[in-house]
Amino acid sequence: MDKTSTRLSLPVSPREFGFYVNGAFVPAGPREVFSRNSPGHDVPVTLIPKCTADDLDMAVSVARTAFDDRRWSGLNGQARAAVLLRAGALIRERAEEIAYFETLENGKPISQARAEVGGCADMFEYASGLARSLHGDSFNNLGDGMFGLVTREPVGVVGIITPWNFPFLILCERVPYILASGCTIVAKPSEVTSATTLILAEILTEAGLPDGCMNVVTGSGSTIGQALIEHPDVDMLSFTGSTAVGRRVVEAAGRTNFKKLGLELGGKNPQIVFADADLEDAADGVAFGIGFNTGQCCVSGSRLIVERSVADAFAQMVRAKFARVVVGDPLDEATQIGAITTDAQNRTILSYIEKGQAEGARLICGGEQMDFGRGQFISPTLFGDVTRDMAIAREEIFGPVLTIMPFDTIEEAIAIANDTEYGLAASVWTKNIDKALMVTRRVQAGRFWVNTTLAGGPELPLGGFKQSGWGREAGIYGVEEYTQVKSVHIEIGKRSPWIG
Ligand code: NAD
Repeated sequence: MDKTSTRLSLPVSPREFGFYVNGAFVPAGPREVFSRNSPGHDVPVTLIPKCTADDLDMAVSVARTAFDDRRWSGLNGQARAAVLLRAGALIRERAEEIAYFETLENGKPISQARAEVGGCADMFEYASGLARSLHGDSFNNLGDGMFGLVTREPVGVVGIITPWNFPFLILCERVPYILASGCTIVAKPSEVTSATTLILAEILTEAGLPDGCMNVVTGSGSTIGQALIEHPDVDMLSFTGSTAVGRRVVEAAGRTNFKKLGLELGGKNPQIVFADADLEDAADGVAFGIGFNTGQCCVSGSRLIVERSVADAFAQMVRAKFARVVVGDPLDEATQIGAITTDAQNRTILSYIEKGQAEGARLICGGEQMDFGRGQFISPTLFGDVTRDMAIAREEIFGPVLTIMPFDTIEEAIAIANDTEYGLAASVWTKNIDKALMVTRRVQAGRFWVNTTLAGGPELPLGGFKQSGWGREAGIYGVEEYTQVKSVHIEIGKRSPWIG
């Protein structure tokens, strides 16, 4: 990891990981090993075991025991908070290592990975407070003979399945909140980005988390992921990924033990720009909203809906922003847009760019595979003359592809924004408070930004309306999701008899 000028160097050899059960790494041993190549450089960077179904059973059984014997849920909030705080400090200590592996496996720019890791430490620090403040309710108004309590209890063993776009961030939007509630965890990261999940498990042990409370199994979605969603001893599953796999998660829960589900799925998120907006700010925000993480964000602002009187001028402003954004080597500190994470995703994005042109949309800029040596890169792409029925306007592309549609009235802007099966996020750009509030109220989305985009932090909850998912992560809501509510009626004095 030597630093030469502003560019980190590639590792001399791939780092070998075991999977993580009961407070320790388990070496791959006789198991098959997956060799992950950096999408920005096409060189091997990590070696990850392909766990077996037996490995998963072992991890779930360890998490089950750790939950049932109350080694974690039985501690007081202060003790749980102390572990989460120490974990936050250790993440900060190892931030450079985590950011490096995140960039190597995912292809995102190193500067961005560093910022994300700082945000993840913050999640742990914030959730530590929630471990202490989590509480129920009481009812003192039930008459002199009765007192009512509502308590919150941890759900139990939680499975976490994460995608490859923000392997560490999405994990850290869940793990500290789940641990704050007292649950234990079996996590399965995406097969192509497992390293930082394994590093987090090691950090948690060092921070004092009792063994067995955080376990990580690695391997493919179709084997280990499917076995996890079907597992009868998993009480709750937090799934983040595509809507297609989300559907399988719901089916599996219905077929097996009706495990509680949290689902964070896809999005096709609108960016509504009114003529009275600060257009310079809006153009920069719109470029950021689709360029950040190469558009591989569930909350990427991929549908630009602009007031007709400024639509053409605004398209040119976004185009000028795209022309200046720095695409390139993810290990270079100056890079703003890195590599596309997987070959399959690269092909998907390029096929949508072709489809958009075939459907009659006008390519205003971008649309090309860029050549920076052996990695896979796509230039930020802007389509005009887009209609609501086109695939590029309806389907989640998960790449740096932006479509523009004009509107004439606020009602039309709201209708276009809501014309999607998804409801994850939305942004509105205007200096008129009435318009901002009306749009914020009426567009269906779990996260909203006014005169900004992609802002976030540990306090505010995340989650979607419509087919973007169920439940919320982060904030106080994020801890409460992983609890179940128990109501307790307590008789005071002598009970009035049923049989006299
Ligand atoms: P994906 O659904 O293919 O995979 C996500 C995870 O599910 C991976 O760990 C994968 O191994 C696992 N998986 C695959 N098949 C499985 C099965 N049959 N059973 C159980 N697990 C299985 O998604 P992806 O390609 O990794 O990520 C891209 C998608 O994720 C996009 O649709 C994006 O919108 C969505 N996403 C949503 C959010 C959010 O918070 N809403 C965040 C990031 C990504």
